[in-house]
Amino acid sequence: MTQAIDTLFRNARLPDGRLATIAVAQGKIARIGADAERDVAVGAGVDLGGRLVVPGFVEGHIHLDTSFYGDAWRPHVPYTAGFNVRERVDIQHRNMAAAAPMEQRARNQLELCIANGSTRMRSHVMVDGSVGLKSLQTIAAVREQYRHLIDIQLVAFPQSGILTCPGTAELLDAAFDHGADLIGGLDPVSLDRDIKGHLDVVFGIAGKRGVGVDIHLHEPSMMGVFSIEEIAARTSALGMQGKVVISHAYGLGDVPADTVRRTADLLAKAGVAIMTNAPGARAFPPVLALRNAGVTVFCGSDNIRDSWWPYGDGDMLGRAMMLGYRSDFRTDEELSVAFEMVTTAGAKALGIEGYGLEAGARADFVVLDATHIPEAVVAVPKQRSVYRAGTCIVRDGVLEPFTSKR
Ligand SMILES: [Zn+2]
Repeated sequence: MTQAIDTLFRNARLPDGRLATIAVAQGKIARIGADAERDVAVGAGVDLGGRLVVPGFVEGHIHLDTSFYGDAWRPHVPYTAGFNVRERVDIQHRNMAAAAPMEQRARNQLELCIANGSTRMRSHVMVDGSVGLKSLQTIAAVREQYRHLIDIQLVAFPQSGILTCPGTAELLDAAFDHGADLIGGLDPVSLDRDIKGHLDVVFGIAGKRGVGVDIHLHEPSMMGVFSIEEIAARTSALGMQGKVVISHAYGLGDVPADTVRRTADLLAKAGVAIMTNAPGARAFPPVLALRNAGVTVFCGSDNIRDSWWPYGDGDMLGRAMMLGYRSDFRTDEELSVAFEMVTTAGAKALGIEGYGLEAGARADFVVLDATHIPEAVVAVPKQRSVYRAGTCIVRDGVLEPFTSKR
């Protein structure tokens, strides 16, 4: 029987090195392989010229509300006495009061990420007693404008703490009537100084609203491990395996290998995933040890040119390179792990279905000037084209004109 195909992408180099044809029908991959052209009625053909085709990148952790990308440069203000979330949040409030409108800054950042090949994203957005629901409402509206280009999950993020910031618990709950998809948390011991109270609110709202959890955890050493143990215990007790992420989990970068192993077993059993962005000179979780224990570990950019640091370019392939560099990854297998962290592992952690280069998945892919994955990770080729549901939305690094509704 003849199958109706909208577009045939010929000469696609698959991650395993084979040259193949990708047949796309109604925005999905209908067939992929050397014989994808057999018995089909074709609408259009695109020759990919033997370039490498990979799934659209998963930006697993970003802050769309706080970046100054595309706005005036804001010189970084150092801490006065070492890492201190409250001091940084104060600096951030001052910076944001003087910045361009949030909608404009979010659009700048979003278009940067899309041009670099991200087709799925999770953004944390500040919801607390200081900003109320305003940031969330703004970012949710921007998400609507870009719905045809990228899928975005929004996390209601209590940047100023929950128990120590009056009104935040009620606002976090109300966030689910204003576009939030997940409930966030932040340093329950070091910031709120009440892990039980903090997690009662976070997991209470998760249960009430039926949503997943994504908690920022900067706490060092055994303080961080203690919080991880408590989060894993709650996740298991509530049957939330696969729906909880701990972002950063810095403490796992500070403790001995046997403590990492024990904690990794807990995380794997509880189905809690770990996000890391390979942060500057800060120790971060040992990726291979966690993966070997069965933990899903994935990547995000985190802050892009905001009050936390001046770095970030929204390029998840570059993030994979950085993660690999900082993890001392050298073999092809290790470089492929770094790549998985910005693609399939991210999709798994975010609970994304219909993802990947396979029949039935949405036809979201990035075309790169590289011959295979390890080379793509170390070279980070910038000339790339991005297809979303089979439509070209970025050509050679530039958004197609029709994609922007500006
Ligand atoms: Zn973050």
